[in-house]
Amino acid sequence: MTDYMHSFDLFEPASVEEAAQLADKYGKDGWIIAGGKDSFDWFKDRHKRPQAVINIAGLKQLHGVKDNGDHVAIGAVTTLTEIEDNKLLQKNFPLLTAAAAKVASPQIRNAGTIGGNVSQDTRCSYYRDGFPCYRAGGNTCYANTPTAMNREHALYDAIRCVAVTPSDTGPALVALEAEMIISRKGKIRTVPAEKFFIGPAVDITRMTVLEKGDILTEIRIPKKWSGAKHYFEKIADRQTWDFALVSIAMVAKITGGKVSDVRVACGGVQCTPRRLTTVEDLMKGENVGAEMERLAKRVAAQGAKALNYNHFKIPLMGNLAARAVRSLT
Ligand SMILES: Cc1cc2nc3c(=O)[nH]c(=O)nc-3n(C[C@H](O)[C@H](O)[C@H](O)COP(=O)(O)OP(=O)(O)OC[C@H]3O[C@@H](n4cnc5c(N)ncnc54)[C@H](O)[C@@H]3O)c2cc1C
Repeated sequence: MTDYMHSFDLFEPASVEEAAQLADKYGKDGWIIAGGKDSFDWFKDRHKRPQAVINIAGLKQLHGVKDNGDHVAIGAVTTLTEIEDNKLLQKNFPLLTAAAAKVASPQIRNAGTIGGNVSQDTRCSYYRDGFPCYRAGGNTCYANTPTAMNREHALYDAIRCVAVTPSDTGPALVALEAEMIISRKGKIRTVPAEKFFIGPAVDITRMTVLEKGDILTEIRIPKKWSGAKHYFEKIADRQTWDFALVSIAMVAKITGGKVSDVRVACGGVQCTPRRLTTVEDLMKGENVGAEMERLAKRVAAQGAKALNYNHFKIPLMGNLAARAVRSLT
């Protein structure tokens, strides 16, 4: 039976400190929600049954976008709509506002938060449907068998699990060299976005460094890439309410017709946003133009290992890399 939730104790903490105490007290039996747009699916399908749900959406401390001089700070419970519409972000980081605007549907963006977007669990349909796979504590990857349906799954780093990151804002934050601020029992740590997302080789049960008791409080984006060229594109089966098959996020600085610095990341191809360092390396110091586009297309998916049904992602990565380069001219 789906579509009705198990019962749980709902907490509405009044401060980050109180939320952290609750998260610490309940540990593995606790669950933080912000917009709830990922969490409610788990609860309604009854595959996850936390005893305590800690709602942080109302915490003003974690809300809003601030210009802090050398960086912009985004509170973790800022909604995706607020990010999409924010003038400071539109001016400095159009890559992020474009990515936020591509998430799901307006209704989901109105409630879904940036913190929830980067912390959400994978959408592998076997795992989400409650199959006892490796990620769920079992000993099989049901998406990687001869008959499995795996067109949405990974091309890289598929160690026991072929699930991919579903977050649209993740690749943009990796490209922008964002920093994630995490609070645990009153102690704060800072993790670069690139290290925030983790693959199955690190811990197959998680998608990020966040462990029970951790609260992502803020995302800081350095102004380093403000004023650079930004490009975001997401390919999905449908234009709205659909996850990326492959997405690309690029920031590039052009000086005298040459690329002086660049970062490129793809979503939908591995468990974490994937930096396309081969593309970055061939672009740096070179003239923007048709030759760069041709080479980017050729090397973008280097090392990819297709599953039965996701070969199409290889040319898709190449085409997206070529289009990102073309956007520079
Ligand atoms: C129909 C549908 C379509 C979707 N399409 C897309 C899409 O196209 N692209 C995309 O990127 N996503 C998509 N999503 C996924 C997701 O729901 C949204 O991206 C949304 O941003 C999640 O944010 P939330 O605040 O609602 O998350 P929640 O459900 O509140 O939280 C998600 C997870 O993050 C954890 N979490 C949340 N905030 C914090 C925090 N501050 N600190 C620590 N942990 C935290 C929660 O414990 C939970 O595990 C879709 C969801 C649905 C239901």
